[in-house]
Amino acid sequence: MTIEIVEKIHKFEKAGLGKAPFTLVDVWNAPSRSLAEANPEAYNRAISEGPRTTSGRGFCSCHYCGHEILTHCVIEGSDGARFFVGSDCVAKTGDKGLIIRVMTEIKKKQKDRRRELDQQKIEEFASLMRTPEIRDILEKLPHPNAHFASRGKTLLNWADFMRRCSGVAGTKKGLRIVKKAIAS
Ligand SMILES: [Zn+2]
Repeated sequence: MTIEIVEKIHKFEKAGLGKAPFTLVDVWNAPSRSLAEANPEAYNRAISEGPRTTSGRGFCSCHYCGHEILTHCVIEGSDGARFFVGSDCVAKTGDKGLIIRVMTEIKKKQKDRRRELDQQKIEEFASLMRTPEIRDILEKLPHPNAHFASRGKTLLNWADFMRRCSGVAGTKKGLRIVKKAIAS
């Protein structure tokens, strides 16, 4: 009987993080160290806009196990206590409702991130295609399709077409080929 009661206490509550039931407030990805080096201002802004805990404990370690984390599950107890844990430690609790919410949110964040990276590629491609020096280089190179090349079409015609008419996959291909062309 005693064992049953002990097991019913939520692992996070047992660890003194707050009172059950716990809910997910947010999933927050800490900015990377490479961003800190490349753009300290953006890094500091991301940190200052990040979530806060009620205990004052900071980022980058799981408040349950102490291990380093990048993906912070921001959890709130029914007593209002807010803390950070890694998704592995959420999985350890056996709290099915919380686990499902965390996994769903992580997947959604990854999807958003992929979309963001795709958008960056689209913008990078558009910006290259607006650069006169790059357009000059591409204009001197043949169209990748032999038929169009024989009719005098250039790599510039191809790249302009890829930028206007292709989706994300075409944009990535266009960007890769244009970058290769200007590097050689
Ligand atoms: Zn942990």
